[in-house]
Amino acid sequence: MSSQRTISEELVSKLTCTNELGLDGMIRKVPPAQPSAIRRWSTSSSLGLLEVLPAELLLLTLNFLDFQSLSRLSRACLKGKAVVETLPAYKEMMKHAPEVLTALGRTGLLSYHSSSLLRQTLRSEKCVSCFDFGAFLFLPTCERVCFECLHQNQALRMTTLASAKRCFHLTHSQLKRIPIMHSIPGIYCVRFQVSYSRTCRLVSVKQAKQLGIEVHGSIENLAKLALTTRRGKMTSRESWILKYFREAPLEPPGCDLSRLPEKSNITEDNFAGMASIRIPYLTEAGADRGRLCRGCQVTYEHYRQGSLPASVLSELAPPGVGPHRPLLAILARLRSRDRFLDHIRHCYGASRLVLDWTED
Ligand SMILES: [Zn+2]
Ligand SMILES: [Zn+2]
Repeated sequence: MSSQRTISEELVSKLTCTNELGLDGMIRKVPPAQPSAIRRWSTSSSLGLLEVLPAELLLLTLNFLDFQSLSRLSRACLKGKAVVETLPAYKEMMKHAPEVLTALGRTGLLSYHSSSLLRQTLRSEKCVSCFDFGAFLFLPTCERVCFECLHQNQALRMTTLASAKRCFHLTHSQLKRIPIMHSIPGIYCVRFQVSYSRTCRLVSVKQAKQLGIEVHGSIENLAKLALTTRRGKMTSRESWILKYFREAPLEPPGCDLSRLPEKSNITEDNFAGMASIRIPYLTEAGADRGRLCRGCQVTYEHYRQGSLPASVLSELAPPGVGPHRPLLAILARLRSRDRFLDHIRHCYGASRLVLDWTED
């Protein structure tokens, strides 16, 4: 497709894939948080000690509060409710991401993030790991992530308290310093499908590793302790997982992980998708949930049929990288509107579709 040509709204919509079932394996079907049904107002209602603060200072203070505290304030008095409802963070989260608030509440993580951090994340765009568009919120850290990084970057995995303790030599009371998530029972899938009928208490691998470094003084000390770990009754798979988690990168790789050579020790994710939920990206133009490219599906099909031109294949799979992973990854790559417009100008499959539609 020519980069000079203006792309019509109709074409954008035709090239958008509406079947997103492959991405439906994270927290879903949670009811949206509901605003208070109280519509009364009283001029005698008071915020008590908070009344002495000038309006700007009060707003600044409330931005530091998490949604659980804001909810308590809004239930304490009518003035509190009115003040909370004027907060930009409250208005934007309730309008555009009320399910996220419910998910944070149900998993016991609502009190860990300030309302201003949630608003900032709602208005940011990038995956914390690859810097491409991140259409999901990783609940324990309040960071945006993309589907591929959730699968490929072990720093974005969740693990049990027992495994975190053993992996990073932490005690139970030390682990309480990081968010402990109470999972929502159900079926989840981020490449690996898992099913749980009961709640699990889980922590983020990245946060557990950071805590281990803080407690033991350095990453070197942590590595020395790892050598002393008694394997005891551990299965080889369990010790493999501990090794994999210890190698979790604390710095973002800053690139598409599917385009790097495959790690030899990647392990199945026992809690895939249980700590993430779709979140829109809020801009002045409105809420953007991200979109999948229909053209990329055509590219993948041509790859499977062996008809993808070699030049396209070598572009998608760099030398030394097997084509299967990067080709599979493009099927799950959600893009913001701007990134999508840029992508379809260069997407092989999109240009094939446009050609077919022109010839019809
Ligand atoms: Zn990513
Ligand atoms: Zn495409």
